[in-house]
Amino acid sequence: MAKIAAEMLVEKVTIEAADVKTLFLRWPEGYDIDFKTGQFITVFWPDTPAYKRAYSLSSSSTDRGFFEVTIKRDGKMGTRMVDWIKPGDRLGVLPPVGKFLPVFEPDHHLICIAGGSGVTPFRGFAREALHRGLDTRITVLYSVRRPTDIIFREQFEELARANPRFEFHVTCTRLTADDTWSGHHGRVTPQWVRQHIGDAEKTVFYACGPNALVDFAERLVLEDLGAPKERMKVEKWG
Ligand SMILES: Cc1cc2nc3c(=O)[nH]c(=O)nc-3n(C[C@H](O)[C@H](O)[C@H](O)COP(=O)(O)OP(=O)(O)OC[C@H]3O[C@@H](n4cnc5c(N)ncnc54)[C@H](O)[C@@H]3O)c2cc1C
Repeated sequence: MAKIAAEMLVEKVTIEAADVKTLFLRWPEGYDIDFKTGQFITVFWPDTPAYKRAYSLSSSSTDRGFFEVTIKRDGKMGTRMVDWIKPGDRLGVLPPVGKFLPVFEPDHHLICIAGGSGVTPFRGFAREALHRGLDTRITVLYSVRRPTDIIFREQFEELARANPRFEFHVTCTRLTADDTWSGHHGRVTPQWVRQHIGDAEKTVFYACGPNALVDFAERLVLEDLGAPKERMKVEKWG
């Protein structure tokens, strides 16, 4: 399909955590395209069409009629989006592209290592698996500084209740005296990841987000855990 931009209505804006918002973008009439969970769209404001930025879909290919993207307040576009966007605005959207795709084989296990906003596409993975009743195991291992930084906490917990093949685990790295947290703490370690691996041969690792986080996850999986390169999929945001 040609990369033709469509103008989409921002129907809803949801606050997910401090400085993080999800935009619900309604497809215009007649818009009906094939795309895959895990891909990203490219977005621009109609008043500055030359300034375009990519955002991973936090919705899935089983969600029709809209896209959702979840944006952190960072840099020029991220700041304008989070500070200024409101329902009723319109954005230009280029169709989804990308190769950061879930391998939905029945006997596979997807271990998704995320930090901060890099968790966004994994909501799409979990949603598709639930909507299609898939057998594939998915485990999200998510590192945040504090419990208040967890994006989609309730939604991931709900997805885990609805799908016994989906697990959501969080580790907090910078707890303060104000935090109530009895879960895992400290950085993502090879030991923590290893605890969640069942059949290593059938496990595919994913990492997405800012380069530093993805590079860290790549080293952990390829060097510390010794997984082969073809079983690690990454999406670097820059
Ligand atoms: C495939 C893909 C998917 C993506 N998905 C998402 C997503 O789902 N959610 C999301 O929030 N982002 C996502 N991004 C990142 C997004 O595209 C933007 O890059 C991000 O919102 C920042 O906006 P910007 O590029 O206009 O920032 P810019 O203003 O160009 O800044 C880029 C980076 O440089 C830093 N910077 C800018 N100025 C300075 C300075 N003077 N000193 C030091 N540092 C500086 C900024 O903090 C920022 O980290 C994705 C990127 C890619 C490539």
